[in-house]
Amino acid sequence: MTLFEDASQALAAAIERLNLSEDVIERLRHPTASVKMSLPVRMDSGHLKVFPAYRVRFNTALGPGKGGLRFHPEVDVDHVQTLAFWMTFKCALLNLPFGGAKGGVRVDPKGLSKMELERLSRAYIDAFADFIGPNRDVPAPDVYTNEMIMGWMADQYATIMRRHVPAVITGKPLALGGSRHRDKATASGAFMVIDAFMAEHDRSPEQTTVAIQGFGNAGAELATQLYDAGYKVVAVSDSKGAVCDREGLDVPALREYKTHDEANGVYDAYALRDCDDTRFERISNEELLELDVDFLIPAALENQITEENADAIRARVIFEVANGPVTTQAAQMLEERDISVLPGILVNAGGVTVSYFEWVQNRRGESWTEDEVVERLDARMRDAFERVRDAREEHGTSWRVAAYLVALKHLNEALHAQGTRE
Ligand code: GLU
Repeated sequence: MTLFEDASQALAAAIERLNLSEDVIERLRHPTASVKMSLPVRMDSGHLKVFPAYRVRFNTALGPGKGGLRFHPEVDVDHVQTLAFWMTFKCALLNLPFGGAKGGVRVDPKGLSKMELERLSRAYIDAFADFIGPNRDVPAPDVYTNEMIMGWMADQYATIMRRHVPAVITGKPLALGGSRHRDKATASGAFMVIDAFMAEHDRSPEQTTVAIQGFGNAGAELATQLYDAGYKVVAVSDSKGAVCDREGLDVPALREYKTHDEANGVYDAYALRDCDDTRFERISNEELLELDVDFLIPAALENQITEENADAIRARVIFEVANGPVTTQAAQMLEERDISVLPGILVNAGGVTVSYFEWVQNRRGESWTEDEVVERLDARMRDAFERVRDAREEHGTSWRVAAYLVALKHLNEALHAQGTRE
């Protein structure tokens, strides 16, 4: 089964409960636009290398396409289309005036020099300049892309257009019109959802153990926020493996030692600490997913919990911070064992929500304070959480299907209001 087929199954369960027209169902089976380009990039060695690049807009009934751009060796059209599909429902769920889109380049960015990375980023904009725009499609960071890359891209777009167009891309450096708190937004949004969930379950952070897969932009910041709030973060991982301490990791120390030398994996970074604690141990990424913890937080890539390992999962609740880390089939197996899976389209929506704030600030020529951004984010995340919670109770479904129900209702209204164009 392809990633897209699996993702569509979550939607199918929501469609069954709503009385949607055949026209709407048919439209949601296909992306609005899907473009593949070849990016020729001059390597430092003098050789020319061509990288396949994609941008997919899944649906734009609610507004311009919105979604990140990833640089990853496994990017292909199925991945990008599925990620654009998730963006469509994420934006609809948060009531953002955006459709869903996603982009990607099939490349291992770790193998590129900084100059090569810059040439690749500019080449992407050269290729897609006619396809994107503040009212058309607005890229942002995703896996292995960051604010530096968004800055180069905004500059390249301005060069092509011969004017400033900051709202064409979000996640930019502050100096180029970025928003305060955008770098922490995905983690903060996830923390707000976890906090809202906790408030209804009468438990304290101190009694709650957490394992986090992924120590990138979202995972590392969320680990810090949870640690600061008193949660016991017992394990974290990155692509090189995981470190585990059943008594709780010292997350600030881990982050500090990790930044000393980025090449170190989380275990090696943790082992560098100058203290005589010997409780911590090295475990594999697979073992982390199967730990007996209260909350499991996959914050890396899609397809981590599948039919293969779903039966081995022992966590009580899963919060998807990555996009699509739990397949639809695995989520059904988990729900049958009373393991709740709070879906990425809700849990990780903080990133795109602050992207929306950045787009608004750019269009109004404003620059909001960090407090203002956090306050607005908090209001939107809690509101979305409550609407999903209520739909779950009303329809007696899983969290995932409830989130799709809420998003789909909103999108369906827009699709109907557009008319049939017959
Ligand atoms: N890449 C992030 C996501 O998957 C953010 C997208 C955006 O800010 O447009 O939600």
